Amino acid sequence: MSRHIFVTGGVVSSLGKGLTAASIGLLLESRGVRVRLQKLDPYLNVDAGTMNPFQHGEVYVTPDGAETDLDLGHYERFTKGVVDRNSNFTAGRIYRTILEKERRGDYLGGTIQVIPHVTNEIKEALRVVATDDADVVITEVGGTVGDIESLPFLEAIRQWGLEVGRGRVAYVHLTLLPFLRAAGEVKTKPSQHSVAQLREIGIQPDVLICRTEVPMDEGIRGKLSMFCNVPRDAVIEERDVEVSIYEVPLVLARQGLDDLLVKMLGLTTAHERNLDEWTRILEILRSPRETVEIAVVGKYIALHDAYKSIYESLAHGGIAHGVRVKIRKVSSEAIERDGPEAHLRGAAGILVPGGFGDRGIEGKVTAARYARERKVPYYGLCLGMQIATIEMARNACGLSGAHSTEFAPGTPHPVITLMDAQKEVTAKGGTMRLGAYACRLTPGTKAARAYGVPEVRERHRHRFELNNRYRAALAERGMIFSGVNPELDLVEIVELADHPWFVAVQFHPEYQSKPTAPHPLFRDFVGAAVEQQHREVATARQASAAQSPTEAIRN
Ligand code: GLN
Repeated sequence: MSRHIFVTGGVVSSLGKGLTAASIGLLLESRGVRVRLQKLDPYLNVDAGTMNPFQHGEVYVTPDGAETDLDLGHYERFTKGVVDRNSNFTAGRIYRTILEKERRGDYLGGTIQVIPHVTNEIKEALRVVATDDADVVITEVGGTVGDIESLPFLEAIRQWGLEVGRGRVAYVHLTLLPFLRAAGEVKTKPSQHSVAQLREIGIQPDVLICRTEVPMDEGIRGKLSMFCNVPRDAVIEERDVEVSIYEVPLVLARQGLDDLLVKMLGLTTAHERNLDEWTRILEILRSPRETVEIAVVGKYIALHDAYKSIYESLAHGGIAHGVRVKIRKVSSEAIERDGPEAHLRGAAGILVPGGFGDRGIEGKVTAARYARERKVPYYGLCLGMQIATIEMARNACGLSGAHSTEFAPGTPHPVITLMDAQKEVTAKGGTMRLGAYACRLTPGTKAARAYGVPEVRERHRHRFELNNRYRAALAERGMIFSGVNPELDLVEIVELADHPWFVAVQFHPEYQSKPTAPHPLFRDFVGAAVEQQHREVATARQASAAQSPTEAIRN
């Protein structure tokens, strides 16, 4: 029977519960324990799919086509554990199930209440992931202790502990130690209060993980231990990391968090903790050979979380080459305003991510044109592939006014159109082409060389696609269709001949990259950017060597 670790958060939101949960997963896996991670979200949306990235960050897509919380991205990047639609339950989804049962008459006239009906349904969500192949399930409870909407979730995890019994559950509470600069002190009171609130609901945390800017001294540890009723060695410091979030597991390992949990839950470990691979990654991140700058041209640039997996995957691509990727965040509307030079000059690569709606579209088209004509490596993801196609059609194939029917329903050249399966769809949530689909690669292309296999599966989230009627015209001007879905004959990857690296994909490869296994396309894109940077340096050197000695002196 699986053991369970619950991760709750106190004092403020955005403490990094997802990262902490994922780090715990990694530490247990590093000892041969099989883990599975799960997130419970107290908000009322049925899933994250309909939420604006500005409010909620990116929508993370699972292989089975669920649109979920971005913390699942951390889970997949840190561990080998499976994620699927059961890895994320929202209050909305729980209530929907209950209301459907009620309408069917399943409750036989009973009064439906938060306890036991809602809490039972939440426990059911815990049960479905506690499968035989998981020694430990780590469930992160979204929100902050004290929120009204979190209450049924906390009550459910309390009941779970009671039912499965001591020694089978561990409650980990993540909290914040604010540092008061004026007093030069770290304060424990907010953490004491949040633990007091948890205990009021009947949950005594077993482990307290403290986010702090400054080191936590022994006095503070003692105080937290005493007032929060947590053993001293279970008060763990999680100080802000300097180089990368990938340091967090090592910080926690140094304090023996995994030993503590293994003991608490009576886990059988296959071997000693082995973090060699992870340590090697950090060494690269700490002392990269060089830095390469890549421009990400998007619409939600102001919020880092909106393109979380893309930024992480670029870092992975860098790890593969021993380089650091510096991201230049460019708003596509700024390109519309100032032209491409002002924002893209000097970038060694240009990435256009996915998106919906017409704001900033023309800026992205301009960015794609700049990349194609200047021979700067280009990587288009989902909308970024549609943009590359529109740009080619307009500026290389002479199809003026070419567009996607998403943005210009009356375009004379609909090079991107609604997929047939989408034509009857009117409802919004969960109705796109979602999840993993096969993509057959064309031998000899950059994409095929990157993957090194004839067929791959990648995750999708879109309604529109490249219009096959325009394939011939695009091919004539040098567009290569390097990946196609075998069942529906949909173009999944395009690339350009006569360009150092111009590859664009209809899917989201950013959902399948890990620091320990960088995605092949991210790896090769960053590789191409490094080459581009070297070429530029060489050209600049040649130009300065070609100057006459007097000119050189004058300069
Ligand atoms: N809006 C486009 C579509 O629905 C692209 C979607 C995306 O980039 N995820 O096809």
